[in-house]
Amino acid sequence: MATRTDRVEADFVVVGAGSAGCAVAARLSEDTATRVVLLEAGGEDKNRWIHIPLGFGKTFADPSVNWCYQTEPDPGAADRRVFWPRGKVLGGSSSINGMVYIRGQAEDFDHWRQLGNTGWSFEDVLPYFRRSEHQVRGADAFHGMGGPLCVSDVEPHPICEAFIAATTQLGFVRNDDFNGASQDGVGYHQTTTRNGRRCSTAVGYLRPAMQRPNLRVITEALTEKILFEGCRATGVTFHREGRICTATAAREVILCGGAVNSPQLLMLSGIGPQEHLAGFGLSVVHHLPGVGQSLQDHYSAPIKLKCALPVTVNDVMLSNARKLKAGLQYYMFHRGPLSMISSPAALFARTRPELASPDIKCSLSPFSAERPQDGLHPWSGFTMIAYQLRPESCGEIKLRSPDPADAPAVHPNYLASETDQRTIVAGLKLCRQILENPHLKPFIASEFQPGPAVESDEQLLDYARRRGGTVYHPTSTCKMGGDPLAVVDAELRVHGIGGLRVADASIMPTVVSGNTNAATIMIGEKAADMARQPMRLAAQGLRASEHIPGCLIEKDPPLLFAWRGRATQLFAQIHPSLHRRALLDRVAPAGDVGELVERLAERFGDQHPWPARHIGYRVVVEGEVAVSEAAFEHTETAVVLVGIALAGIRMLTLSVIDEVAELPGHRTEIADLPEQPLQALFAGAPALRHEPPGPLGEMDQDRARLEHRQRPVAKLLWGVVGRQSPACGYSG
Ligand SMILES: Cc1cc2nc3c(=O)[nH]c(=O)nc-3n(C[C@H](O)[C@H](O)[C@H](O)COP(=O)(O)OP(=O)(O)OC[C@H]3O[C@@H](n4cnc5c(N)ncnc54)[C@H](O)[C@@H]3O)c2cc1C
Repeated sequence: MATRTDRVEADFVVVGAGSAGCAVAARLSEDTATRVVLLEAGGEDKNRWIHIPLGFGKTFADPSVNWCYQTEPDPGAADRRVFWPRGKVLGGSSSINGMVYIRGQAEDFDHWRQLGNTGWSFEDVLPYFRRSEHQVRGADAFHGMGGPLCVSDVEPHPICEAFIAATTQLGFVRNDDFNGASQDGVGYHQTTTRNGRRCSTAVGYLRPAMQRPNLRVITEALTEKILFEGCRATGVTFHREGRICTATAAREVILCGGAVNSPQLLMLSGIGPQEHLAGFGLSVVHHLPGVGQSLQDHYSAPIKLKCALPVTVNDVMLSNARKLKAGLQYYMFHRGPLSMISSPAALFARTRPELASPDIKCSLSPFSAERPQDGLHPWSGFTMIAYQLRPESCGEIKLRSPDPADAPAVHPNYLASETDQRTIVAGLKLCRQILENPHLKPFIASEFQPGPAVESDEQLLDYARRRGGTVYHPTSTCKMGGDPLAVVDAELRVHGIGGLRVADASIMPTVVSGNTNAATIMIGEKAADMARQPMRLAAQGLRASEHIPGCLIEKDPPLLFAWRGRATQLFAQIHPSLHRRALLDRVAPAGDVGELVERLAERFGDQHPWPARHIGYRVVVEGEVAVSEAAFEHTETAVVLVGIALAGIRMLTLSVIDEVAELPGHRTEIADLPEQPLQALFAGAPALRHEPPGPLGEMDQDRARLEHRQRPVAKLLWGVVGRQSPACGYSG
């Protein structure tokens, strides 16, 4: 969408319209009173190959939609430069990726939480995965319906069928849902497609949101620098059509430039390792040594086979008649070879039996190529690749120059750790074991690469270094956490800087065990929720840190944090049917509750926060407690903020719905209303809300009433998972 303005103003400036950025911008602009500007360095997603699944081969190295990065020569990859495609177009990498829908393992997110990132356990993030999803198989405890990201099934393929049969014969379990109860086993992937067309975040999230007058999308706008007032981000400058323009953010700048560009932009703006920035003459706004560090990526090694039967995509591309047929089939039905994703089937396995969860992924693609950017082999071929799910080796991203138009220097440091070396060798051996199974024999004419001469562990490792490559999952270069290399906190706010968040794959504390698109979209969904809580305050002309004298977030963050833990624990006592352990997990950061109560008593005297009453599923805590801009997780609270009542209202169950701020006059209403619909509390909320009938039921909400008509299956489901239904109690 073109604009000729040199200066734009918004509440939120979102940089990068990729997997996360589109989700962030679309969700934030749901509130029509919030002005959102989304800046994207690339253009609109008009290239038709973006939307045809097999077209990923065409966009893979097309600089009109792709940054086409190359790493620095990497010792782990036999001193080669490795090609790193990244999307540079609306939808970002979700517009050029392989469309495999994988979330990672529950253990990945529990590990993030274990590292100290409150609110990021699997139980915490599952609602966001579900909210983002439109699962064609229908909703269940793990999957959602009605979300912007369509998740579909792939068409069976004879080589995939043989691969699955071979692998199950070897004793691996069949798994028809890698994103369900367990990732273990072999089966077909699901895909981010809708009716045979790519469902990028530009398609799923942005396109519907672009109708809104409060969302402005500016393409071909290369953001060059973040602007600051002191240590607070106030906007960005961007380069467009030869001019330097400014976008100012009344509330926040949210970086969604991805794992390569977000750290680059932070460093260009003076946030990063002091010495490195000084080396380029950049003045340092804030010394943050972790920016660009902790880089993780999935490095894979392929086994390429010459196929004995003409069933591969290579065969289709080698025959004009079959190409024509495939074209017609796709044009008429959106099916056939052109609807194929990068790898329809996969196995998640352990290379060592003692491991708690899979550490290797072996994927099958019914095509082969020397290098993906060079097109398919001119003979019938298919490929298996193996990659380690949780690599230990970490690399880094550095500036190459202070010029924002220059690519940064990427040092992936592949296969540096002994575990990583051992695992990729074990993965290649596992692939070969599967390929030797009788089910696959009819398809194999010969092993083209590495070839039978490559046999020993040393040879396989050497081959992996020479012939391996990325599966395009860089993460963690602005990782979330509290350790010295962390860049953002658990609310994704850049440490030491106000008004600035990062929300994209770069914030993952560790790479997830699998493909990264779904988890990145989840991050975007969650970031939007975190950003809009203080927005609700702002809608009333309030900002906790500015308007509330003695605000705890400024004065005593540990105490505030502890208070939140205490409120959660009180809640757990009052509401025994909730998952008590899960709640108590969250209390852990509060430390000893007795000590906390003493500290609170010392700080607040008689005024210390205590449950004054509870209404339905809600605890009301009254006391002179200033609230943070942070969310009150899984706790519905109403607190008095130095004379200003604020209700932070969150869903207690599967999905976090909303938060509202309110003026003192509303307090009685809160107490009096049985269900307290959002509409009754917050003037900006739409007057009516209707969740259309789904497999679990339907819901209607207006200013005075919330009616949730559950189907029996839903009651049964919530009974089984031991939780309340998402719409029971309050939902906003
Ligand atoms: C070829 C390929 C295949 C992949 N296959 C899969 C797969 O099958 N399944 C899967 O789950 N994952 C896959 N991935 C990974 C997944 O797509 C990414 O992890 C995910 O898209 C990253 O999202 P992001 O929001 O962090 O960054 P991106 O989606 O890359 O978005 C960043 C956006 O920011 C823009 N930007 C950057 N810098 C600036 C700037 N200075 N100013 C303005 N805009 C800027 C970029 O142009 C881009 O649009 C693949 C990735 C690639 C590249």
